[in-house]
Amino acid sequence: MKTSLTIALAGNPNSGKTTLFNNLTGSRQHVGNYPGVTVEKKEGFARHGQRELRIVDLPGIYSLTAYSIEEVVARNYILNERPDVIVDVIDCSNLERNLYLGVQLLELGIPVVFAMNMSDVAKERGLEFDMDKLSSMLGVPLVATVGHKNKGMSDLLEAAIVATSGGLGSKPVKVTYGKELEDSIAKLQELLGEGDGQLISWPDRWIAIKLLENDKEVLSAMGEQDALYDLVATEQAHIGKVLGDTAEMIIADRRYGFVSGACQGVVRSTAEVRRTRSDRIDEIVLHKFWGIPIFLGMMYLVFWLTFIVGTPPMDWIEAGFVWLGGAVTNFWAPGSESLLKSLVVDGLIAGVGGVIVFLPNILLLFLAIAVLEDSGYMARAAFMMDRLMNKIGLHGKSFIPMLTGFGCSIPGIMATRTLENKRDRLTTMLVLPLMSCGARLPIYALIIPAFFPDMWHAPMLWLIYVIGIVLAIASAKLLRSTLFKGESVPFVMELPPYRLPTLKGVLIHMWDKGGLYLKKAGTIILGISVLLWVLTSFPKLNEVDPSLNEEEQMMAELSHSVAGRIGHAMEPVIRPLGFDWRIGTAMIGAFAAKEVFVAQLGIVYAVGEADEESIPLRTKLRENYSPLAGFCIMLFMLISAPCMATIAVTRRESGSWKWAMFQLLGLTLLAYVITITVYQVGSWIGVGI
Ligand code: GDP
Ligand code: MG
Repeated sequence: MKTSLTIALAGNPNSGKTTLFNNLTGSRQHVGNYPGVTVEKKEGFARHGQRELRIVDLPGIYSLTAYSIEEVVARNYILNERPDVIVDVIDCSNLERNLYLGVQLLELGIPVVFAMNMSDVAKERGLEFDMDKLSSMLGVPLVATVGHKNKGMSDLLEAAIVATSGGLGSKPVKVTYGKELEDSIAKLQELLGEGDGQLISWPDRWIAIKLLENDKEVLSAMGEQDALYDLVATEQAHIGKVLGDTAEMIIADRRYGFVSGACQGVVRSTAEVRRTRSDRIDEIVLHKFWGIPIFLGMMYLVFWLTFIVGTPPMDWIEAGFVWLGGAVTNFWAPGSESLLKSLVVDGLIAGVGGVIVFLPNILLLFLAIAVLEDSGYMARAAFMMDRLMNKIGLHGKSFIPMLTGFGCSIPGIMATRTLENKRDRLTTMLVLPLMSCGARLPIYALIIPAFFPDMWHAPMLWLIYVIGIVLAIASAKLLRSTLFKGESVPFVMELPPYRLPTLKGVLIHMWDKGGLYLKKAGTIILGISVLLWVLTSFPKLNEVDPSLNEEEQMMAELSHSVAGRIGHAMEPVIRPLGFDWRIGTAMIGAFAAKEVFVAQLGIVYAVGEADEESIPLRTKLRENYSPLAGFCIMLFMLISAPCMATIAVTRRESGSWKWAMFQLLGLTLLAYVITITVYQVGSWIGVGI
């Protein structure tokens, strides 16, 4: 244990640093000058228990950019001299502005303590703080002080000493800058890590951020490194293109967002305060009662858009495939039994085509999600869900990966890495597939218009997604209060300022996901469609009973095929859910990829079709199932076994097959129980039959 510690006092001008410095050092101070610069640095000594403390009063600054000489002096002192602990003297009557510097100090890799100074002024202005919450969110101790009354000094020194010895404040939380920037930071960090002859021992992450911010001081300190500068330029250009603003601006925005998120629910004000445009919007969308309804309304809007705007192009593509099927059929003589014809028309066109039909819906859904994300609204949605989830004892940070799950469960599960607590992480991972992924959208887009009138399309889709969210939260609660009992710590949920999304950025984000869908259709789904066609077409019946009509003969053929046999074997189990053997085979196919459900229904109905005329799949569904059964199909596909890839990722991220199997079986069982209940109760009271 070091007996002599250096404590640096940093903070905004007029926050009370010198007052604290004088309090702490008494008369044992002397004033010194920094060599080469005219900015003053004062140094003095204090005692606390057995410890000899050297206290340094740094120049007052608002930020750690290199805009002013004071900023450069303050940060170079910290980075080069590495004091044992930084005490950030905060004028807490002006918390948000002061925290802007505070969060930058957290990034320097040195223990930090916040002195909540001017607490008397704050109190006078009707400000109240939840200091414990802020402290645990930021990972730093907060000590209330009143400088000119010499209050809180001993507590402050105590906290500073604890922070230097690995206690609270030794590892402060760091601001995260969003996916795009974090990717760039990671790349730069990697390159910095490779550089062997590093002249300076500053933290890599900090250097990377400063380089992206175009910090002249850091740039010149790095010396001749062309590869590094090239990478910085490339990343800055990428960020500019995707996010529509300079990296420097976005980084500043993110910091403000972090601070603003940290202050939400921590500062309570009984007095009038100046509001920005973002604050005014937040006042409405983060409202205690209206916030969640507004979020649900937004979701509704998204699904309405997905259907209303998506239907015409979907119809065109569908008509295109019907035409293609007809055109290809014409290569063969009418009534031909050619296997190749069947493979192309009933297998590929009905299978892959059936999936591609939904591309417009997928693109629209992702477009809407991209707009919500880029504008800053998604962060609010996560913020509100955090508030809600905290109330029921869940970790709200889980909701960010869960929102990612609307696109695809796999990146969502990977994003659970941001959860430090193993219990929170496992819980989130396990329930995440209940957030309906993009690959399930084609199933809903097929089923809903088949059974429900136009007016009901958007509400139905919305209902399915909401059921998913509610089930996810309920299951998480169940897991957290049984298997994964334990405390959750609060954290900062960023609230970046709202910004108008750029067309380019939104399109890039949409295509990131929509392109994957097309690629999947051309690879996995194509392969599985061929396989499913084989399973649905073979073995052939050698002799067909001539007394049967054409339709019945087809049915006999189908039942004889491998898929038919598997489906029929499943039927006793799935009958009570309202499903027949065809749905059963499609469900098995869906385990490979959810879209396959749609492909397989297309194939089964195309293979089993007696006449040459192509009838849209929806019409056939309407003839074969009731709306209640249709709803149950969606419900089951929403809840049941996630796809193979998801299970594999859960296995990898949880580190054991145990949890992957638990997820697979648990969700399937849950799906079964819920669907059977809905179907049986629905049939009994007679809705949708
Ligand atoms: P510095 O610029 O950060 O060094 O700030 P100073 O230490 O010079 O303080 C600025 C002014 O704030 C002085 O007039 C102090 O007396 C006053 N001050 C310092 N701490 C407090 C406090 O906790 N409450 C109040 N009301 N005034 C304070
Ligand atoms: Mg001063």
